[in-house]
Amino acid sequence: MPPPATVSVLVPAAGQGTRLGRGPKAFVRVGGRTLLEWVLAAFAWADEVRVALPPGVSPPPAAANVRFVPGGAERQESVARLLEGAGGDVVLVHDAARPFVVPAVVDRLLVAVAGSGAAVPVVPLPDTLIEPEEGRYGPALDRSRYALVQTPQAFFREVLAEAHQLARAEGRTATDEAQLVQALGYPVELVPGDRRMFKVTFPEDLALAEALARVWEERPE
Ligand code: C5P
Repeated sequence: MPPPATVSVLVPAAGQGTRLGRGPKAFVRVGGRTLLEWVLAAFAWADEVRVALPPGVSPPPAAANVRFVPGGAERQESVARLLEGAGGDVVLVHDAARPFVVPAVVDRLLVAVAGSGAAVPVVPLPDTLIEPEEGRYGPALDRSRYALVQTPQAFFREVLAEAHQLARAEGRTATDEAQLVQALGYPVELVPGDRRMFKVTFPEDLALAEALARVWEERPE
């Protein structure tokens, strides 16, 4: 898959993994590799990969196109630091916590971003969605109106840089880059994601990841 422009992959990997409870999440092992190693293998084709690590953590051995920087206190700050030195025309921001990168989704993103400047993968909600009220069943929302947003998220580097500058100036934080780009008034295109690109977040996700790792080597599509 030859990318249409130079691509920098930005990997925020500086989280403490509090919800998982196994230390910094990027270094948790699944299928014999750390989550970060899965991600680095998936993006070996990129022009450069920049990784934000928890402060004080020594960089692991990595390929020549990989650079490490100390992360920030929040995910957004980690991405801002990664962006500072990035040189690609297009940036793909990808959580280290998502070890299974589906190549077909990356292809869709690269096609979409070339036309629109901003594209993210989404998946539909499989379950009923409610607003619990004090631990009891609350109003159900129309799940067909909602989507779950994944990473990688693809942007023209200059668009994302402008979005980060504006967010900093306005003191806004967000859980992903697309929210910051949208706040610029820039439309963000949606492409179909893939549920295998789930974020390893809770302890039970590790069992799912181990099971998927066993079949992944064969071929993700
Ligand atoms: O906490 P959450 O699961 O949303 O984190 C998403 C990604 O952001 C993870 O890969 C995590 O390592 C990264 N992160 C970061 N710097 C922080 C907090 C989270 O790079 N300060």
